[in-house]
Amino acid sequence: MNADLRDLYQEVILDHAKAPRNFRFPEGANCSAEGDNPLCGDNLTVKVVLEGDTVVDIGFQGSGCAISQAAASTMTQVVKGMKRQAIDTLFSHYHDVVMGKAEADDDVLGKLAVFAGVCDFPMRVKCATLAWHTMQHAIRGCDNSDTDNMVTTE
Ligand code: ZN
Repeated sequence: MNADLRDLYQEVILDHAKAPRNFRFPEGANCSAEGDNPLCGDNLTVKVVLEGDTVVDIGFQGSGCAISQAAASTMTQVVKGMKRQAIDTLFSHYHDVVMGKAEADDDVLGKLAVFAGVCDFPMRVKCATLAWHTMQHAIRGCDNSDTDNMVTTE
C-alpha cells in the first residue's frame, strides 16, 4: 500500500472515529449485545432491528480507540439492509484481511477497505473486529430471545 493511500485511509478512519455514524440505538431493536476488548479498553453495545434474515436498522454506543469506533461506525453503515448470510460472507473476508490472511478485495470490502492496513498492527485486530463480533452475537441472540449477550474478545 502506498503512503498516500495509507494517509487517506487514516483520514477516513479518524473522520468516522470523530463523528461515528449510527451512534444511537434504533427504535424497535430486537437484538442487542455488548462487546468488550479489555486489551485496549474498547467497549460497545450494538442494537439491531432484525426482520426475518434482514438487518433493517442497526446502531451502537460505546467508547474506545479510534479504530474500534470507526470500525463500528462503518460496520453499521455497511450491514444495514443486508441479510445474515451476506453479512457472514463479508465479515469472513474482512476478518481474514485484517488478520493478514487474505489480500483485500476492494469490490467485496467497499468502504471497509480502509481497514486493510490494520493487518500491520496485530494489537489492533481486535479493535477492528469487536463491533462485528458484537453484531453477530446480537443477531444470534435473537434466535433464542436472549438479549443480554456479553462478548469478550480475548
Ligand atoms: Zn481499540
